[in-house]
Amino acid sequence: MSGAPAPQRAHRFATAQVQAGFTPGSPSFGAVPPIHQTAAYEFSSLQEAADLFALRRPGIIYGRNAGPTQQVLEERLALLEGGTSAVAVASGQAAVAVTLLALAGRGGHIVAADQLYGGTVDLLQETFGDFGIPVTFVDQDDPSAWRAAITPQTRVLFAETVANPIAQVLDIRLVADIAHDAGLPLVVDSTVGTPALIRPGEHGADFVVHSATKFLSGHGTSLGGVVVDLGSFDFGALPDRWPQFTEPYARFGDLVLWERFGQGQAFAALVKSKYVHDLGPSLSPFNAWQILLGLETLDLRVARQSGSALRIARHLAEHPAVAEVHHPGLSANRWHSLAQRYLPDGGPSVFSFDLAGEEHDAQERIARFIDVLEVFRLVANIGDARSLVSHPASMTHSHLTPAQRAAAGISLSTVRLSAGLEDPEDLIADLDRALACV
Ligand code: PLP
Repeated sequence: MSGAPAPQRAHRFATAQVQAGFTPGSPSFGAVPPIHQTAAYEFSSLQEAADLFALRRPGIIYGRNAGPTQQVLEERLALLEGGTSAVAVASGQAAVAVTLLALAGRGGHIVAADQLYGGTVDLLQETFGDFGIPVTFVDQDDPSAWRAAITPQTRVLFAETVANPIAQVLDIRLVADIAHDAGLPLVVDSTVGTPALIRPGEHGADFVVHSATKFLSGHGTSLGGVVVDLGSFDFGALPDRWPQFTEPYARFGDLVLWERFGQGQAFAALVKSKYVHDLGPSLSPFNAWQILLGLETLDLRVARQSGSALRIARHLAEHPAVAEVHHPGLSANRWHSLAQRYLPDGGPSVFSFDLAGEEHDAQERIARFIDVLEVFRLVANIGDARSLVSHPASMTHSHLTPAQRAAAGISLSTVRLSAGLEDPEDLIADLDRALACV
């Protein structure tokens, strides 16, 4: 029975080694959120279990849907983004998938930016294509392309606030207005933007997703993802368009999610009770704890990384071996004025540059350059404490066609950098030494 004293002497060894010394529910008074490393949660009665399963009362049933450590992370991130609720999942990829499935998974159509991270393009054009969910890709800087792509079946517009790897800055307000004029939500992936630099909800976005693997944790130890409901989108305004929220849900005794949970909470309830429950991309308590630990220093890390990245970008822009630097903090950059508007506290620390020279031997020159770097590490990740380098055309964006890469602003000569926490002088010296080799 729940709350009963843990077995001590009366039970045999095997029973004691499983149950002794711990009473479920006892407070620990630890100053740091504890890792609740348990797969399941004990109910006080069968009635409580039945109520929880039917969504008649809030609570935790099973680790696939929720856990106390994950809830601390969800509440913290919802707060940091100025949102109303959040769902933490196993990876950024899972966060994008469950968010878009919840909005467009029932016969809906998605309009997404050409400039998305390559793994997201893989997800949308292949796996969503396999599921019969159509996606139209548009140039995020072309408002008429967004408008023209919207059909009666469209359920969501999707883009990155600061795109990986070229660091194009999304005109969030413009695209949000286009979405709202069509009665649709705007979902943004703000992984590169980070809540320390940009809060998309202040500019009209309705949902924010993050790969928590990156800046939110900041140490490169743990995968994680999160979607935050910013509480702004009213699924009740066009109820016929959103039956997943406004019609009785047979799984939960014909409960109507919109009536039971309301604006700002219904989306998270659907994501958890259906998509995370059914597909199982659950965040482990340990990874949630690691991300919480990293989150404590988010603004300090991002400020330093942002400053270092701008110094590096300015340095590279003057270097004869560099053809172009794609950093919106540079006044010559096409997205500079958008960066001033949306990123007043500092630009991204993930950005790219193109090596000078012909395309035909670009791969060879890039390899020479990357392979001699010593401080920058060749890693398929961003937002780490370590500075990272990658070659999008042969790594993260290698599955895209040359035309898709060109639409995202990536060439064979493009090198992506993620500035870490090392001394910027060492980072610049490392790049100079490698550039001298090409
Ligand atoms: N979104 C962006 C912008 C990313 O850069 C990534 C990964 O690089 C993802 C989503 C996917 O995140 P994860 O690797 O945590 O699944």
